[in-house]
Amino acid sequence: MLIVKNLHTKINSTEILRGINLEIKAGEIHAIMGPNGSGKSTLAKTIMGHHNFKVTKGNIFLNKKSILNDKVCERAGKGIFLAFQHPREISGIKFSTFLRTAQKAKSDKTSSVIDFNKEVKDKMKDLHLSPEFTDRAVNTGFSGGEKKKGEILQMQILEPKLVILDEIDSGLDIDALKQVAKAIKEYHNENTAILIITHYQRILEYLHPDYVHVMTNGKIIKSGNKDFAKELEKNGYANYVAPTSYKLPATS
Ligand code: ADP
Ligand code: MG
Repeated sequence: MLIVKNLHTKINSTEILRGINLEIKAGEIHAIMGPNGSGKSTLAKTIMGHHNFKVTKGNIFLNKKSILNDKVCERAGKGIFLAFQHPREISGIKFSTFLRTAQKAKSDKTSSVIDFNKEVKDKMKDLHLSPEFTDRAVNTGFSGGEKKKGEILQMQILEPKLVILDEIDSGLDIDALKQVAKAIKEYHNENTAILIITHYQRILEYLHPDYVHVMTNGKIIKSGNKDFAKELEKNGYANYVAPTSYKLPATS
């Protein structure tokens, strides 16, 4: 479904991604771990098409077609979804209006307002969100957990094929983590692919990723199975981090 090939990106004049290669097939779950500042969010945002990140080399293919020239909304229309590490507050826009507008923009699904509200309320109940949640302005004054659950609710309503979850588990208490993991697991099927960026192996115990990659310094430097995540959490990234005086050579 997704192929990232020798991807290099720059922010201003600084190179952040330095040759990322990644292939995610339908039905697979991949996890990316790695120290802060290694470029994980940059990869997520570059796949989604954020304008801050300039692709200087390489390509991104969705179902064998390059999406590099597609705008963010076009990528979303093709089925890519990104749950943000730091969801933005949008005061003045009700969450329910935001969800309904996004759903209408993305699909021809013409459910009635009543059906739509019921669908949303059912999902909110499963996520243990209060019934007033969607009457509030998007992310405004939400707790960390509510923001993350709000991202999951968007995923459920927009029904993307490729789901990128950037630290969806950060800031969640144990119960919220279980609820979010359950929602992701239920959403995932043989036609969807999930890329989850995380620092913790705990969420991976629920999701059983097919591959775990470690990223440092703008490159994926090792990949393994879910046991690799356990090893990383136990031993840290020390074995995989290049000393600061040494920069990994750029791919030619
Ligand atoms: P991670 O998600 O792995 O913690 P990021 O992708 O957020 O890492 O950041 C990678 C590097 O890019 C960091 O050095 C960070 O400071 C830099 N960076 C990210 N976003 C910006 C930006 N908008 N402007 C300048 N530098 C940025
Ligand atoms: Mg990040």
